[in-house]
Amino acid sequence: MVDLDKIVSLAKRRGFVFPGSEIYGGLAGTWDLGPLGAEMAHNIKELWWNHFVRAHEENYGLASSILMPEKVWEASGHLEGFADPLVECNKCKRRFRADQLEDKEKGKCPECVGVLSEPRQFNLMFKSQDAYLRPEIAQGMFVNFKNILDTMHPELPFGIAQIGRAFRNEIAPRDFLFRVREFDLMEFEYFVREEEWEKNFEKWRGEIWSWIEKVGINKDMVHELEVSKEDRAHYSKRTIDFEFDYPFGKKELYGLAYRGDYDLSAHEKASGADLRFIDQASSDKFIPHVIEPTFGLGRTILAVLLSSYAEDELGGEKRIFLRLKPAIAPVTVAIFPLVKNKPDLVAKAREIYSSLKQCAKSVQFDDNGNIGKRYRRQDEIGTPWCVTVDYQTLEDGTVTIRDRDTGEQIRKDQKELEKYFPERIS
Ligand code: ATP
Repeated sequence: MVDLDKIVSLAKRRGFVFPGSEIYGGLAGTWDLGPLGAEMAHNIKELWWNHFVRAHEENYGLASSILMPEKVWEASGHLEGFADPLVECNKCKRRFRADQLEDKEKGKCPECVGVLSEPRQFNLMFKSQDAYLRPEIAQGMFVNFKNILDTMHPELPFGIAQIGRAFRNEIAPRDFLFRVREFDLMEFEYFVREEEWEKNFEKWRGEIWSWIEKVGINKDMVHELEVSKEDRAHYSKRTIDFEFDYPFGKKELYGLAYRGDYDLSAHEKASGADLRFIDQASSDKFIPHVIEPTFGLGRTILAVLLSSYAEDELGGEKRIFLRLKPAIAPVTVAIFPLVKNKPDLVAKAREIYSSLKQCAKSVQFDDNGNIGKRYRRQDEIGTPWCVTVDYQTLEDGTVTIRDRDTGEQIRKDQKELEKYFPERIS
């Protein structure tokens, strides 16, 4: 398993992830995505949206507000229950998660000689004057349930999906992108008839596995954990955590939960709105049950980087490369003129660069340094293909395409590129 340090350092060095507010010493639990990280995040979100929303005609997209009033969180149970047990040192005043302290540390401050207080519940929600920053994105979908019924007139089962930011005042943010204070979630609520929950739970369980493969997370590093009755939310009859083998341990990557009719019932009671579904055939009115698959974007990026990081030797030289899937790689194709001081070669490469932009997701032009160095740079950021324009190109219109994983090169007519890449990206 690759060290987390290697991933953090590559991410920083090559512009995937920077520490938040770094020139001011950073802010714990915040990370900024650099040009390559932003590109990759964009690709992952698009792939997720295609996989879970567009591919299923019964799923509807949504983009709800980050700020939501106290009443929402009262109804959802977050105001009372969304808390971690914290202890505080009487000397240095640092706070720690009581459940994360080693047994031998109980009572004594791990940082100084002080004594720790009894655990107190510390709510994780960020509050502004009259609203809360959402700590999860599910409630936006529940509060819009009636809007979706009234505008889309769906049949059961159907889903409401969104991608968006959530905020948690984590007291001990750590492990790079794993535990942070603001993060993007990709999630949907799938509404079903009660008697059909098991069938649909299995359907999405299967789709989660096919997503894991599609996005390029190593399946052998993912394990299902059947969450026991004691550890499940009281309303959930079944929850599976999809755990990943991170360098710091086996921990949650994704979740799949059957939530019964808890959420809609709570909002119906608290808001007074009628949130029942009306069956067209029988005119029965009832609150549907819900299955919730949830995906953290940051944890996805981390799991993808850990799954794809590789070191080997190519042409007698050591190299680092990322085996990213073409659909999510920040650069899909890099295009090089063999040398940068031959105007004919550069003009030809520029011409091919423009045409490639029409058929590959993201194309980079690079004429800096010798070809070997350029290949290494692209390998390190996971670019699946490099196209080189050389003297032969000027004569017969062929270019070389070099494969990232094998280093093999083939010659193709430039006219074939617009078919060659799209076939391999999807
Ligand atoms: P954990 O047990 O790791 O704190 P959780 O059970 O609180 O996670 P959920 O409330 O189920 O997590 O959140 C849904 C998803 O959001 C998780 O599967 C994870 O991918 C992501 N997530 C949760 N908390 C964080 C965080 N602090 N930083 C980054 N991603 C997070």
